[in-house]
Amino acid sequence: MNEAVWWALVTGIGSALATGLGALAALALKVGEDETSKSRLGFASAFAGGMMLAASMHSLIGEGLAMGTGAWNAMLVLAGVGLGAGFFWWAERMMEGREERTNTGGLSARSLLLFGALFVHSIPEGVAIGVGFATGDIAFGATMAAIIALHNVPEGVAMSLPMRAEGASIARCAGVSVLTSLPQALLAAPAALAFSSLQGALPAGMGFAAGAMIYVVAHELLPEALEQASPAAVAWGVTLGSGAMIGVTSMI
Ligand SMILES: [Zn+2]
Repeated sequence: MNEAVWWALVTGIGSALATGLGALAALALKVGEDETSKSRLGFASAFAGGMMLAASMHSLIGEGLAMGTGAWNAMLVLAGVGLGAGFFWWAERMMEGREERTNTGGLSARSLLLFGALFVHSIPEGVAIGVGFATGDIAFGATMAAIIALHNVPEGVAMSLPMRAEGASIARCAGVSVLTSLPQALLAAPAALAFSSLQGALPAGMGFAAGAMIYVVAHELLPEALEQASPAAVAWGVTLGSGAMIGVTSMI
């Protein structure tokens, strides 16, 4: 197995597990639905959102554009961005209208909907990890995997809190949280393999991952963060998160 695929497999599984770890930590620390917990969680989501925005624009789109010169390469990246955002838009529409289903697998309608949304949006995140390693730059891939793992933590908390309130055990909350990120574990390695052998399509793959992540930040992470924390806290989170991300990537 080539090195990129191996790394993508291991870090894809690791980032999925991080979702459950976040849930475990939050529940053990008794993070609840009180105002202080909510505003911290909102800040954490905004910070993760800022990191994802910076990684998408600075790293993925920037690297994609740097892979070639001329209009064709730029078009490939932009087409990827459009496809990535379009994927989410489509997935979002598919999820709509399923709200009426209740109590499937012991989850309430609210939890099930949240599970579906997180599961679907985890698909391009898996592709992002794979694409990161397919560049052949292990540090770049590891950075992508680390950001995604980190932003999974508040997502695991978001999944667990309503479940816990509905009486689910901590282990079950953590298990379901890990499952929301299953696409990362399953897709990172195949994406790394596909784009390693199809280097010509790599700029489009990087655009796809970036477009999808930017869309999810605007569509899910930030609106959710604004429900939990004040606009100022969210603004600080996004600003510091994007600054931190650019700082970290320029150091490696
Ligand atoms: Zn996510």
